[in-house]
Amino acid sequence: MGKRILILGAGFGGLACANTLRKNLGQEHRIIIIDRKKSFMMGLVKLWVLNGTRNLEESQTPLSSLNAKGIEYLNDEITKIEVAKKRVQVKGHGWLEYDYLVVALGTELAPERVEGFEGRGFNLYDSKQVPGLREKLLALRKGKVAISIMGAPYKCPPAPYEAAMMISDMLENNGTRKAIDLEVFAPSPIALPVAGPKVSADVVEMIGKFGIKFSPNCKPKVVRDGEVEFENGRREKFDVLIGIPQHRAPDVIKSSGLAAEWIAVDRETLRTQFENVFAIGDVTEIKMGQLAMPKAGIFAEGEAKVVAQEITDEIAGQKPQAAYNGQGYCYVEAGNRTAGYVEADFYNSAGPAFKLDAPAEKYFEKKHEFERSRLKEWLL
Ligand SMILES: Cc1cc2nc3c(=O)[nH]c(=O)nc-3n(C[C@H](O)[C@H](O)[C@H](O)COP(=O)(O)OP(=O)(O)OC[C@H]3O[C@@H](n4cnc5c(N)ncnc54)[C@H](O)[C@@H]3O)c2cc1C
Repeated sequence: MGKRILILGAGFGGLACANTLRKNLGQEHRIIIIDRKKSFMMGLVKLWVLNGTRNLEESQTPLSSLNAKGIEYLNDEITKIEVAKKRVQVKGHGWLEYDYLVVALGTELAPERVEGFEGRGFNLYDSKQVPGLREKLLALRKGKVAISIMGAPYKCPPAPYEAAMMISDMLENNGTRKAIDLEVFAPSPIALPVAGPKVSADVVEMIGKFGIKFSPNCKPKVVRDGEVEFENGRREKFDVLIGIPQHRAPDVIKSSGLAAEWIAVDRETLRTQFENVFAIGDVTEIKMGQLAMPKAGIFAEGEAKVVAQEITDEIAGQKPQAAYNGQGYCYVEAGNRTAGYVEADFYNSAGPAFKLDAPAEKYFEKKHEFERSRLKEWLL
């Protein structure tokens, strides 16, 4: 008998999972993916919109192309998950039952958690605000651009530093860089707590080469016109404030009683405490001591492939063997058509291990290939 697999969320993790399952399973098994969005765009494209090498509208790939691949795509809002009855409520489609459920709902942004930010600062992670931010930066002749990481967790921890270097490059080309001060403010004592002190120091050195300052232990408390006040009492004037808001779990996770915030999973199998329910990507929390696995597409994708293999094996009546290895990488764009390269091994037996390579043109090319290859595999 055919099984019905519901995948909630057609982002990085959901798309990787649906495609792997479709390749593995016969057509008697239904794969249904649900998302409120009509199209997919990788998060990293926001930075290309910021530096003007991409246009927001042209960077969207329609999710409707999934149907031709034998993946049923529903463009709708998920309103309730009832694990006890193995069903999910979808606004325009009623209750959908499942044999297997994969929750890949990502995160929500919480800019409202810093008083006065909305309306005074630009949210770097809200793609709708990025074109306006670009215009503002290009119009600025002199002054201060403050980039504030407003709280943790937030996805793609190196992205604010990438943005800083790309902005520096943009201003250089605009002839205004010398008259504009650029500074990154982080709430943590080091730049990338999840990658440890060595990589953090390397990142601070990397941005330092662009004349970008770094201030740790600066969590914003309140934003007023032209001024941000941090919890440590420091006040900083700005002409442009760019914020990376703290993230929170999607409401439907909490209202359905799946978790109080992020979903706990087994770090190798991605199984939740609920029968036949898996969770992958940013919506999960995988703890390693005090630290949690960072929220990034590369991890969502790796987890998705493991879950797809487990479901495939189970349907075939075999004992699932696949296990997630906690490994990933990313390209840290540094302007001038270069990118650095970070490799991470979070489940390393002696503790998380990292490697950072200096910016090079080859990594910039690989970053573009990273996007191209996924779009081709998942949606084209
Ligand atoms: C500026 C920036 C740069 C980045 N750079 C990189 C990078 O270089 N490398 C990397 O690996 N990662 C990068 N990331 C992070 C990456 O984009 C995310 O970590 C990744 O998208 C997480 O995948 P996911 O499947 O968990 O969630 P998502 O991709 O966010 O997908 C979740 C989906 O669920 C849908 N959804 C949520 N709630 C509902 C609901 N109730 N009903 C219907 N649909 C719903 C959403 O619409 C969304 O499409 C970057 C992110 C940003 C913002």
